[in-house]
Order: sequence, then structure tokens, then C-alpha cells
Amino acid sequence: MLIVMKVDATDEDVKGVERVITELGYRPHIMPGAARTAIGITGNSGPVDITPFETLPGVAEAIRVTKPYKLVTVDLRPEKTVINVGGDATIGGDELAIIAGPCAVESREQIFAVAEAVKRSGARFFRGGAFKPRTSPYAFQGLGEEGLKILAEAREQFGLRIVTEAIDEASADLVEKYADVMQIGARNMQNFSLLKRAGRARIPVLLKRGLSAMLDEWLLAAEYVMAEGNYNVILCERGVRTFAQHTRNTLDLAAVPAVRRISHLPVVVDPSHGTGKNYMVTPLARAGVAVGADGLIIEVHNHPERALSDGAQSLTLEQYEHLVPEVRAIHDVIAPALVG
Ligand code: PEP
Ligand code: MN
Repeated sequence: MLIVMKVDATDEDVKGVERVITELGYRPHIMPGAARTAIGITGNSGPVDITPFETLPGVAEAIRVTKPYKLVTVDLRPEKTVINVGGDATIGGDELAIIAGPCAVESREQIFAVAEAVKRSGARFFRGGAFKPRTSPYAFQGLGEEGLKILAEAREQFGLRIVTEAIDEASADLVEKYADVMQIGARNMQNFSLLKRAGRARIPVLLKRGLSAMLDEWLLAAEYVMAEGNYNVILCERGVRTFAQHTRNTLDLAAVPAVRRISHLPVVVDPSHGTGKNYMVTPLARAGVAVGADGLIIEVHNHPERALSDGAQSLTLEQYEHLVPEVRAIHDVIAPALVG
């Protein structure tokens, strides 16, 4: 159930509704909006009785939710969510969010070389994995906490916000300590205990689409995070498994407008994992912005040929520098069409 408050409802009115929801043993989720506040209800095992809410001061209507998700939907929040990552760094706002950096943190020298170029490009976010979910147990697994410390140093030096992956609850504790955005990778999209942990994090969560996840499964994964009280979720389309052999994954750009129709959450596109091939990253990045993505995640390396992971899809610093003004120009052209 979803309670929509009147336009002139007071804070006291909202608190009153919150109190009744809590007394009934459910959990209220307050979503202030531009025009009105909505309150989502979770924790109910069956239908919620509308009666106690109908007569409460400030309530405009109580709506039964028929979709499988409650908190991710535009029914709860008609306007887009803008995620504030501190300072001027936002995802989902007017500015195209560019999150760039290597696949993995390999050394301080590597991170500083790439971060310098990312900063110079005007991007506000830096990526790099310290915990790497690798297909082979013998492949480079990441530097762990040491890697996070290097990322935190780069944040100090360049003023970039750090986006990095947590692969389990222990690494989530560390990511929360050192970084600004917690990435949940494709392989963990349905790791429900990790999703719940991310939902208790004090930092935003970037949730990648699973390797074979349908839209509903992906949105329900976001719902897991939000149901725990963390409403700052960014969805990331990074390609799915198909029969295609010309790419590592098939980047499903139709997912961007499809999500937009259902959800208020920002969506970013990852053309690096979405293609797996250096020469395809720039064209698919342009396309991702053209379909209305709120941002891009781009893998960049100062020496892609020596990268310890995902070198084949990493842009050189020079390629990256060419890409940024192009995608910003595309974003500027279509931005007026994306409002609302
Ligand atoms: C990554 O961002 O480096 C990564 C492992 O991504 P994904 O989970 O999309 O494979
Ligand atoms: Mn990678």
C-alpha cells in the first residue's frame, strides 16, 4: 500500500501516518516529492487495511500496490531521484555522471595516473575495484583494504568521489568506510544478504544488472536495498548473456527507457563490460547517453596492455579524453527531452 499525502499536508500529518504504520507492525518509507509526499508501506504479509488511514489528517488517498515492487516505482515518486554524493557530485540530475577508472586497483602509481586524467576530463566520479569477483580463483582478486586506502588517497588528492565494489558483508564494511558509492556487481545482483547489507549502508548503492536478469528481477533487487531504508540506488545496465559472440555481453540499451517508465531511480550504462572490446566502448557510450542514461561507467587504464583485469575493454587515457566531450555534447542535445 501507498499513502499519498495532500499537497498542504504538514510534517505533523506525515508523522501521524508514520506512527499508525509503525503501530500496525509495518515499516513506513517516506518519499518527499516536488508536489507531495508519498509513504510506502512494507513488512505486511497480506493486504493492508485501508480504513485506519482514510481519516488521518493530511492523507489524500491510500493506493493498493498491485506491482511486485513498491519503493522503486514512479507511483511512489513521480519525479526522478537525484542522488547526492557530496558537493556538486550528483547522479540523476542535470549533469551527465561520468564514473571512470580502471577495472581494478593495481598500484598507487596506476591509480594516480588514471585519476589525474579523470579529474582533468571534468568527471566527478572515480571507479576501481579493490575486491574483484573473478571467474577463476587464480586470477587477480584485488588488493583488498590496501586498494581502498589508495582510492581514498586519490579522493583526497583529486576531489573525486569513489565508486567501488563490495562482494560480501565484510568488504561492504570496508567499502562503506573508505568509499562514496558501494557497487554491487552483476554476479551479486541476487545475493540477497548482500543486498540487505547494502540497504543498511550510509552511502549510495550502484546496482549492476545480473548476467541474465530480467527487468523485474533487477528492480526487485533494488527493492531489497530500498526496503532496508537506503533509497539512494543507482541502476547500471552492463550487458546480459546472449548467443552473440561478437561481444562479451549484449548491452541492452532498451533497458534504459524501459526502467525509466517504471522507476524513479537513475540509470547508468556501462559500455565497457557491456561490450568487452576497446573499439566498441566509445560508440556504445555515445549510444547509452543518446537513449537517456543518467551517466556512464567507463574503464580506463594508463597501460591497458598490462592491466591485471579487463585490459581488452579498457580505454587508453587518450581515448577516454576524446570520449568525454562527445558524450557531454550528446547529453546536452537530449537533456530537455529527459526532464521529469
Ligand atoms: C566491474 O565493474 O569491474 C565488474 C566486475 O562489473 P560487473 O559486475 O558488471 O561484471
Ligand atoms: Mn571490470
